Amino acid sequence: MKQSVKTCCPYCGVGCGVVANIAGLKPDAAESISIQGDETHPANFGKLCSKGSDLAATLTPQNRLLYPLINGSRSSWDAALDLVSDKLQRTIDEYGAESVAFYVSGQLLTEDYYVVNKLVKGYLGTANIDTNSRLCMASSVAGHKRAFGSDTVPGCYDDIEQADLVVLTGSNLAWCHPILFQRLQEAKKRRPALKVVGIDPRITATCDLADLHLQIKSGSDISLFSGLLSYLAEHELLDNAYIQNHTSGFEDCLELASKATSRQVSADTGIQESQLAEFYRLFAGTRKVVTIYSQGVNQSEQGTDTVNSIINCHLATGRIGRPGMGPFSVTGQPNAMGGREVGGLSNMLAAHMELAEPSHRQLVQEFWRSPKIADKPGLKAVDLFQAIADKQIRFLWIMATNPVDSMPRADSVKAALSSCDFVVVSDIVENNDTQMSADVRLPAAAWSEKDGTVTNSERCISRQRAFRKPLGEARPDWWQVVQVARRLGYADAFDYEKPSAIFREHAALSAYRNNGRRDFDIGYYEGVSDKEYDALQSFYWPASKTSEPAEKITVAGGVAATESVTTMAASTAITPVRFFSDGNFFTGNARARFVAVDAKPIQRNKKGFPLILNTGRIRDQWHTMTRTGYSSRLNSHLAEPFVQIHPDDASRYGIKAAELVQVSSEHADVVVRALVTEKQLPGNVFVPIHWSEQFASNARVDKLVSSITDPFSGQPASKSEPVSLSKVEPSVYGFAVSRVPIHSNHELMYWAVAPCSDGWRTEFASASGLEQEVAYWKALPSDVYGQVEVAEFADEKKGMFSLAAFSKDELQWAVFLARTPVSVSRVWASQQLQVSHSPTTRSVLLAGIASAERPDQGAIVCSCFMVGSNDIRLAIQKRNCLSVEAIGEHTSAGTNCGSCRSEIRGLLKQTQTREMVCSPS
Ligand code: SF4
Repeated sequence: MKQSVKTCCPYCGVGCGVVANIAGLKPDAAESISIQGDETHPANFGKLCSKGSDLAATLTPQNRLLYPLINGSRSSWDAALDLVSDKLQRTIDEYGAESVAFYVSGQLLTEDYYVVNKLVKGYLGTANIDTNSRLCMASSVAGHKRAFGSDTVPGCYDDIEQADLVVLTGSNLAWCHPILFQRLQEAKKRRPALKVVGIDPRITATCDLADLHLQIKSGSDISLFSGLLSYLAEHELLDNAYIQNHTSGFEDCLELASKATSRQVSADTGIQESQLAEFYRLFAGTRKVVTIYSQGVNQSEQGTDTVNSIINCHLATGRIGRPGMGPFSVTGQPNAMGGREVGGLSNMLAAHMELAEPSHRQLVQEFWRSPKIADKPGLKAVDLFQAIADKQIRFLWIMATNPVDSMPRADSVKAALSSCDFVVVSDIVENNDTQMSADVRLPAAAWSEKDGTVTNSERCISRQRAFRKPLGEARPDWWQVVQVARRLGYADAFDYEKPSAIFREHAALSAYRNNGRRDFDIGYYEGVSDKEYDALQSFYWPASKTSEPAEKITVAGGVAATESVTTMAASTAITPVRFFSDGNFFTGNARARFVAVDAKPIQRNKKGFPLILNTGRIRDQWHTMTRTGYSSRLNSHLAEPFVQIHPDDASRYGIKAAELVQVSSEHADVVVRALVTEKQLPGNVFVPIHWSEQFASNARVDKLVSSITDPFSGQPASKSEPVSLSKVEPSVYGFAVSRVPIHSNHELMYWAVAPCSDGWRTEFASASGLEQEVAYWKALPSDVYGQVEVAEFADEKKGMFSLAAFSKDELQWAVFLARTPVSVSRVWASQQLQVSHSPTTRSVLLAGIASAERPDQGAIVCSCFMVGSNDIRLAIQKRNCLSVEAIGEHTSAGTNCGSCRSEIRGLLKQTQTREMVCSPS
């Protein structure tokens, strides 16, 4: 028997539809579940990236929190909830409502988000609830509100396909929003005239698609876009009628932008004037332009101004609200948009209303019939954790996020949590770096176990559906909040038994006294039955009471008009909707606002820290690896924390590829592997955000980052930290594969662990000598590693020593030790756990050399189909595959999510160049 359930991917803001196929007699067993893309979903039309494709592998009980814990000991739900509500009430009674805070997440479903906001803002009477979305897109929210009078994303994904020019700025779309990148890639393939401009200090996989890459200096985006506005004005390429009829503030804005002369912009950005002119001509000469931006823009002390500098250019050319044009913020998290809709940020109220606006406060309080309403904005994330350190906050409830890893000054956050009077953490995992500070740990239902809705970056609301029972005693977050609210005496207001009831209330509030005055309106759905909610198709907002959402909507009152879009989605009967097609906005006078911004680039000089640290995501990991960290497939691409360094900087600091490097800021340091690459600008380094203390000894990069924030949005600047580098010089480098992790109980300078098929792979380095390391391995206790026969091999020439332990013909562990970075193929060595070993293969294994029978695939390039670099080289050399497509046909590499295509292209180029160099003339 097979059952299929439509749901949504829980990772990025693209919001892909997923079908979970449940087969067999044990529907709750992860191994009986397979995942495929939902062909009817308008975000992905059946495609999934490497993370989405591998969702089934994350349905593991490994590290799941299965029941409530109080101070580390198992408790009943009743005891835990009694304690949480009692502490919450007592703290308020003793110190006032402002002494409690909630820190939630864009991973929550909208229904979870709605009830926690209602409790905090309407019943506790404080707005001290903020979310990790503050770290992700708060600057876009602030920029939208300044320009449009509302937090409205004007366009939809279809615009990206309809555009003639797509500008990607501060967005590594290929790795961070892979399916959107794939849609762009396919659109360009269908219509090669579609041009792509990439603006990024790094050469990323996204740049592979770019016709023009502007490798600008970090922090100079405003200068670039101010220069563009100035160019448009100077060359009389503005849409004067649009500016005249639909906007305000243009003159002031242009006056400031005019300072950004071509020469000045070139000096600010490091881009030659001729290249700047090429970009400006392209923008000016193309009517249909979409500018996509993401964390590279938002995570900056100038984030909001940068957003407005982009929007200014679109307003000045009337390129907004029309097919194939507009500024487009793509969100990092799956439900960052849903969080915005329910007022998840501490300065917002539910249904896109403003806390600072008395009439909105009155309206929401009236709708909720709540005894009170927070009367001032609450603390934003960075200030909130500072207030904990200052003892102003004494009770904190964290849901679905890991601030000890993800907040700037992460070590200070860790210390603040340890000193907080009472910390509750609701999460799906038992151990992460934040859980360690919790007084009470509440087990949350995970993706696959909970029901609700999420909104993606193009305002499409989709159902996330449960398809198996929660593990252990896990319960949805909304349920946990409701139980506490009832204990506090608010049973009537929190009488929800199902998420459908919360959704109906959320929809009703969005329509309440709206009449077209507010952008967010899903009143059409306020009366959905439980059955209809279960069957709810994805839909776009707005969807007001009076209109069929799939049809053209003109909002009553004429404040703003939306236009339905004819797209691929038409066949699915789900129709994306575009805002501002009539040039009316949600400002008091219906005009969009130009915002005058200062083009001065960010200067973060700090003596002794001469390099700029950029942080970000990698292709196959998600946030702090609490889910993706346990998938061997997703760890096959990049299994270890690293720092990308330009060769000039590497040689300046005497660092060779694969050596260990200490990256230090004025706050802390991390130790990571050196990845020397020309893709990095000299003077800049990049470290990924993902590694926590669960997976590496010292790689929590956000502890390096200062708590500097954007003055309008409160979003931290995570991409411009001054740092220095120094080489780490261990006595011994090591690499091990083992059936159980081996890093604990071992005194090491460095370790990083990742799962592989049938075991773990561990990189490590030690300060003790080679002899001591060998002795350590020989003495591994048999109670942990089994009764084994240990074989050893010394290669004096290479300075390598290896040991391997077998029980019968099965490898239990193997370790390779050397005075320089170990050069054994990681993929090949990991695969040795899966094969049997005769006396002959044992010696081959110990020598660390692949054989014809057991070849080396090389580093995994395509994790969807586990294709290695050597597989691809072979296809090129032996099968004469001379294009990415031909390699895909032969090996399948790059044919699923496509995120690895730029690496395949790189290998193709490298192999062909080498052959040309090596061939006899
Ligand atoms: Fe999930 Fe990938 Fe789609 Fe993002 S692009 S929603 S991670 S499948």
